[in-house]
Amino acid sequence: MSSKFGHVIITSSCIFCRSALSYAFVNKKPIAPGHVLVASDREAKRFNDLSPEEVSDLFKLVHRISPIIQKVFNATALTIAIQDGAAAGQTVEHVHVHIVPRIEGDPLQDDRIYEVLQTHEKKDDIKWRTDNEMETEATLLKEYFEENDDEYQQ
Ligand code: AMP
Repeated sequence: MSSKFGHVIITSSCIFCRSALSYAFVNKKPIAPGHVLVASDREAKRFNDLSPEEVSDLFKLVHRISPIIQKVFNATALTIAIQDGAAAGQTVEHVHVHIVPRIEGDPLQDDRIYEVLQTHEKKDDIKWRTDNEMETEATLLKEYFEENDDEYQQ
């Protein structure tokens, strides 16, 4: 089943994990390897538009996938962020959480990540990935979830 992400349709082949009210998918323009997104099923624009149940479900899914993303992409840390509103850098008007794998000394140090996150959609220095590249990554993550996520199976 595909899902709406603001003005964009995310095909099921790019979605690697779902919960009752949220879904996790690979990014078309990641700022680092393994930069993925978690969105609410319902198309709410701002964080505060979510109900408490949706907030809880969204962050439970972030909590569930973040250690797996860190492990799969050989990271030692994560940046977990929401750009909530246009002035904060939000370009897709549908609540979503960025999960970005980090390692010591990576190019996003010294809070550069926040400038890059705020501008990466509009700049040409990071390329948009092909559907094929995204589907390959989502398939790898889906398999990893099927094999290593037993405690969370619904
Ligand atoms: P923001 O700028 O915080 O609203 O983040 C929007 C995110 O959505 C960025 O990381 C984009 O790279 C990502 N994005 C935009 N279009 C797509 C798409 N078709 N599939 C997956 N991710 C997308």
